[in-house]
Parts: sequence; C-alpha cells; structure tokens
Amino acid sequence: MSRVYNFSAGPAVLPEEVLQQAADEMLDYQGSGMSVMEMSHRSKVYDSIIKTAEADLRELMNIPDNYKVLFLQGGASQQFAMIPMNLMKHKKAAYIVTGQWAKKAFQEAQIYGEAVKVASSENETFSYIPDCSDLDIPEDADYVYICENNTIYGTKFQTLPNTKGHTLVADVSSCFLSEPVDVSKYGIIYGGVQKNIGPAGVVIVIIREDLITDDTLPGTPTMLKYKTHADAESLYNTPPAYGIYICGKVFQWLKKMGGLEAVKQRNEEKAKILYDFLDESKMFRGTVRKQDRSLMNVPFVTGDKELDAKFVKEAEAAGFVNLKGHRTVGGMRASIYNAMPKEGVEKLVAFMKKFEEEN
Ligand SMILES: *Cc1c(COP(=O)(O)O)cnc(C)c1O
Repeated sequence: MSRVYNFSAGPAVLPEEVLQQAADEMLDYQGSGMSVMEMSHRSKVYDSIIKTAEADLRELMNIPDNYKVLFLQGGASQQFAMIPMNLMKHKKAAYIVTGQWAKKAFQEAQIYGEAVKVASSENETFSYIPDCSDLDIPEDADYVYICENNTIYGTKFQTLPNTKGHTLVADVSSCFLSEPVDVSKYGIIYGGVQKNIGPAGVVIVIIREDLITDDTLPGTPTMLKYKTHADAESLYNTPPAYGIYICGKVFQWLKKMGGLEAVKQRNEEKAKILYDFLDESKMFRGTVRKQDRSLMNVPFVTGDKELDAKFVKEAEAAGFVNLKGHRTVGGMRASIYNAMPKEGVEKLVAFMKKFEEEN
C-alpha cells in the first residue's frame, strides 16, 4: 500500500487512523456481525453511533443547548435553497458574495425572494474579503448570508460581518472544525462534510431552535423543512448512515488531538510553513490579500501557465496530488485540511524549493 499526499479541495484527505479503524470494523462492527453499511438506522447499535457523533460534535464546538444539530443530505448546495425556504419570512435576505459558492447561494435565493447583494469581492476575482463592518443591510432582511471560508479562492472571514442584529447564516464547508467558533453568533452554521470531516453525502446543519418553524415558504417539500428533521432527530427517513459513522470517528480523532484549540494551532503551524515560503519565493506567489488568507485552502501561481502545468505534473509524479488550481484562478491550490499531516506540507515546500532551483 502506498498513500499519496492528497491536496484535493474536496472530497479530501481523511485521517489515516480513521480509515484504518473503519477498515477493521468493515465486516463486523463491534460484535454486531455486520457492517455499519448493512444495519438498520433504527437499530440500537446505530442509534448509539449517531447519538455519540452528535454529542462529540456538541462537545468539540461547545454548541449551546438551544441549537439543534442535523445530519442531512443533498450537499451544501441543497442548503442554498433550504435556507431561504425556511428563513425568508419577509422574502428578503442580504448576501455577501465572496466567491462562487456564495454567488450560487445568492442566485438560488433569488428564486424564493429578494436576495440583496450587500457586498462583493468579485471585482478582483474574489481575492479578498470586503469590509463588512458597516454594510447597508435592509431593515427587514431575514438573515445575512456568508461563505466563511472560500474554498476556491483561499480567503476567510477573520472577523464576522456586522449584521446589525440580523441572523447570521454561514456556509463553513471548508473550514468546519478547523478552529474554535462561537456558535451563539450564528443562526445557522452548515457545511458539507466532504471537505474537512468525512465522506461526501452528509451535510451538517447547526441551527438555533427559534429558526425551526412550520412557517416555511408555500410549497416547501417535507424533506426540505428543518422542522421535519429536527423533530425526528435526523431520522425522519434513512440518513446517510455510513457517512455519519465516519464523521463520528473524525470527531473522536479531533477530541483525542486535544479539541479545536489544539487543531487550530496545528493548522496555523501548517499554513505558516507554506505561506512563509510563498512570501519569500521568487517563483511562486499566493493569490490573495494577506490578511484574508485561509488556513485551509492555499492558491498560488508562478505567473507562467506552462510552468504551472509543469509543476503540477512533476508534483504528481513525486506523490503530491490534486494541486491543480480551480479553472477561474489558474495555477495551483493546496488544500491543507485537518487531516493533512504537517509532514505533507513540509515535504511539499521542500519540493517547491527544489523545483524553483531547477527551473
Ligand atoms: C464544496 C463546497 C460547496 C458545495 O458542496 P456540495 O456538497 O457539493 O453541494 C459549497 N460551499 C462550499 C464553501 C464548498 O467548499
């Protein structure tokens, strides 16, 4: 067996320890005589898996009691519709557009009501986070929407926007569990797990209880009401059972590592190795404004498309895979999620240094 250093933006690297445990339990989960994939989601064994996963997530994120944790399907993209369907009581919401995922959410919301773009960084290829300290937010907006970490562009909100008392809704797909957060500042925190937590197919929604109501937009399907899933504790229908099981294992791995403070410190150390090199390199440079840099997604370029392509190709041959940047940015992107070991980043930088010397 040989594993590569996988810098994919998502689905992405998972902790080897978790994969190994899953392999060990594949045929017989803890004496049940079956795989987690084969068991009823209504069984006692599975109930313990999903309940433990929720309890561990609550502990890791210090989630207050007046928030529900929902394990849903449909990916982060389904939330682009579910959020307005459930929250747009006044048919109006404010969107801060800092990348393609925020833009897609903004466009989707326009189907359901008036989505107002209150800030954007599209004028400079989303390479920065706009000043959100004093935005013109409509009085009757039902919420303010952000994508907290912009996977494609490599920017992150270092401070949350001033919502002027409005409910904050955040897509945290690519920074989920990368550092501690104050959940009480948000109405909804949600993310697809395939970036930083688990296998594709699960989306986690952390939602303040007062936002869960029967008062959804007319025509909202039962499956797209938060209330349906909150009332049934994520077991209204068959949940993505195996995916939730893996997420639960990752939560335990994070707890063992010392929780999100320790995780943040580790992520900062890792990102610094790469950013410090980009800042001193004569060949490579980062593409985003320094103060807005993400700890998770690091886009960089040489400024020469052919050289970029050569780098990606040679890196792959050396065991550093999925470094090609998003087509709208070009160049390279290294996603260095929680499960990317520090050693992977150190070795990548050593490879970049060597490439710079030789080219
Ligand atoms: C990947 C990603 C999405 C889309 O996720 P799907 O689960 O494929 O719908 C949305 N938002 C962000 C920030 C992402 O990184």
